[in-house]
Parts: sequence; C-alpha cells; structure tokens
Amino acid sequence: MRGVLVFDVDGVLVDVTDSYRETIIRTIEHFTSRRVTRDDIQQIKNLGGYNDDWALCKKVIQDFGCHPKYQEIVDHFQRIFLGENSDGLILRERWVARDGLFEQLAKDWRLAIFTGRTRSETRLTLDRFGAQAVFDPLIGNDDVENLKPAPDGLLKICATFPGVEVVYVGDTVDDAKSAGRAGVGFIGVAPQQDSRRAELVELFRQEGARAVVDNINELEQVLK
Ligand SMILES: [Mg+2]
Repeated sequence: MRGVLVFDVDGVLVDVTDSYRETIIRTIEHFTSRRVTRDDIQQIKNLGGYNDDWALCKKVIQDFGCHPKYQEIVDHFQRIFLGENSDGLILRERWVARDGLFEQLAKDWRLAIFTGRTRSETRLTLDRFGAQAVFDPLIGNDDVENLKPAPDGLLKICATFPGVEVVYVGDTVDDAKSAGRAGVGFIGVAPQQDSRRAELVELFRQEGARAVVDNINELEQVLK
C-alpha cells in the first residue's frame, strides 16, 4: 500500500451543483425572497469558513437583514434536500467517478472519506451509487469535535495508519487548510465550468496543494 487517499464527498465524489448548491439557493430565497446565484455561493465558499452549508445560509440570510432562528434554517434546508418522502434534491446528485476508477486506485491506495456531512447522510449517497464498500474509514462531521478547516478527521486517519502517507482530495479552501493543519498532502478539485476557478486554483496553490484537477477521473495522472 502506497498510502491513504482520503476523499471529501460533496464536489469531489458527487457533483452537488443541482443538489446542495440548489438547496442553499432555495433556502435563502425562502427566508429573504432574494435569489442568489451559484457564483455568489462559490464566492463565499472561497472566503473559507463556510464549508457548512447551514452556516453559509445563515450568513447570507442575515446579510439580507433577516433573522430567523438557526434551527428553522436547518429544518427548511433539510426538507428541501432530503424531501418529505425521500424525494428531495439529494436525488439530483451525480456520481463523478467513471467505472473502474476506484478499483484502479485501490491497487496502490487505501481509500477513505473525511466529509462535513454526517456519516448517515454520506452512507445514503454511497449506497445509492453502489459504493458502500469502497471507503474505509469513513469520517463524518459527527465523528469529529471541530469541523473543517480543523484537521481533526485527517488526524484521526493518520493515527489509524501511523507512518503512512496520507493525501486529501477536496474542493474548497477549507479542505486545503484542513490538510495543511494535519500535515498531509492536498490535491484540489476545481471544475472547469466553475466561473471562479482561477481564484480557487490560486487559493489551493497558496495552501500548498501538490496538484489541482478538474475532477477525480484525472487523479491517476497526478498521483504517478
Ligand atoms: Mg466539498
């Protein structure tokens, strides 16, 4: 085994443009009657500190001068995302990896997950795409004391595999910071269609990313 390749989930394993990102827009619209753009959201994500989508919604809603209770924001977000009968925007997630990618990577690497989602919400998505047995360990936000950009999840993985190289694959500046604080390598994912891609790539470089890819199907080239 060459090392442990740790994946973030949203924006890395799954394309969440039409799921989480759209849920953010609808949640903000519900409380403020204002419709922000995907570009606006990416701009805030690039600031760092808003890896948590609920916290991001709260910030934007408050910036518009509205002050609902935090729990109301969370409940509304979850209703849109999960739906009333499992018919929410979560169904619009798209699996990014081509067939055989993980089998190929697993020849050299142990594959793991560190995500800001809960473990159960992550499992839901992995099950849907038939990838439940691919990643171990799986660290969710309910497994760590401090959320990203804190390094807690990565440090846990490092402690499980002492002396082994660990590389984190993430799509936000908070992911890069988390890797930096844990002292592990980082590979940034910055989709070609992202209107703020150049800004994000520069942020990744500043945080010491060893490579930046458009999507995870390019990982093998940069891991050589
Ligand atoms: Mg992400």
